[in-house]
Amino acid sequence: MTFSREEHLWIPESDLEGMSVDTLAVRAGQIRTGQLEHSDAIFPTSSFVYGSAAQAAARFGGEEPGNIYSRFTNPTVQAFEARIAAMEGGEKAVATASGMAAILSTCMALLQSGDHVICSRGVFGTTNVLFQKYMARFGVETSFVSLTDLDAWRDAVRPETRMLFIETPSNPLCEVADMAALSELSRANDALFVVDNCFCTPVLQRPLEQGADLIIHSATKYLDGQGRCVGGVVVGPAKYLDEIYGFLRSAGPTMSPFNAWVFQKGLETLPIRMRAHCNNALELAKWLEGQPAVAKVYYAGLESHPQHQLAKKQQDGFGGVLSFQVKGGREEAWRFIDATRMISITANLGDVKTTITHPATTTHGRLSPEDKDKAGITENLIRLSVGIEAIDDLKTDLTRGFQALKD
Ligand SMILES: *Cc1c(COP(=O)(O)O)cnc(C)c1O
Repeated sequence: MTFSREEHLWIPESDLEGMSVDTLAVRAGQIRTGQLEHSDAIFPTSSFVYGSAAQAAARFGGEEPGNIYSRFTNPTVQAFEARIAAMEGGEKAVATASGMAAILSTCMALLQSGDHVICSRGVFGTTNVLFQKYMARFGVETSFVSLTDLDAWRDAVRPETRMLFIETPSNPLCEVADMAALSELSRANDALFVVDNCFCTPVLQRPLEQGADLIIHSATKYLDGQGRCVGGVVVGPAKYLDEIYGFLRSAGPTMSPFNAWVFQKGLETLPIRMRAHCNNALELAKWLEGQPAVAKVYYAGLESHPQHQLAKKQQDGFGGVLSFQVKGGREEAWRFIDATRMISITANLGDVKTTITHPATTTHGRLSPEDKDKAGITENLIRLSVGIEAIDDLKTDLTRGFQALKD
């Protein structure tokens, strides 16, 4: 059969196979209406109409595929899901109202009372709360272990272990997990291996290719990249995604069409943004290492990083987040932060604008002193989510911080 452009308003799925993530970011999942718009249409509608009572019945009965109600399906949301699924190399994706809704939906759909989860210790604070406070209330117990200590993971396994959950690289110390080893451990114990791929995005790391069963994203971070919307997504094989979709459809933390449209457009620039984030972060990490007022820099792109080789093997870049310790304690860290003028003081990350954070009193402020100690969250630690501003302007702003430490 010859291919007719006139009959194809969007690229046939078979053509997408083998395309690079750069191309998929721009081309996968696009739908066009009869208006032949070049950019992506947005469908801000809660429900859909039918041509007849019989068609409505067929839709509701499942005999005819199609949209019914936007808590179930919406074309804009589906377009975003198709694009991120293609980029991650997953069979399906399900978009959610936030990154936390993605994690919650995964747990609710695939775990039950009596199950056990092993989670890496440095995960996003709210993920920690979700497991410790809420999942525990429903009979799901979670053990927290060091991301990089494989023996601790093996020791934590119980007969009822059903899920291994990690973030790699970790926040804020950029520790890197050995995904192949953890995948093997999960398989040997019939447990799901879930990777929160928020920090790398599919541009830098595709966990499904490295043995993960499911990928979680807070789309709020790099997928949007411009701080506009809160959202999340789960990617993986249909056998799990259909279950997660079923929960979402019943429980309701779905993504709005407007947010899906913003994320869909955000993905188009994700590859070039990620490269810019990586270049700036590596340059800053090296520059910070040479500063006399800096005690230590944490960034997997540095040769001094203990998992540098592993990061090189698993990732196509080292990401945009780094952290460093200034000599001194909280007072010095705060003085440094307050002396910057351009860089945003905020706990958000993954934005084109560089952000600066004091983890010990913000993102990780709820941890007990003992847990902070275990997680390496010291009072003199500062996290940077490096944006895409010109490197010299970033250095100029950070130099103000160093100047303040001398004064
Ligand atoms: C922000 C974040 C989340 C939570 O996502 P929300 O969109 O804020 O709900 C989960 N995991 C990681 C790694 C994050 O950075």
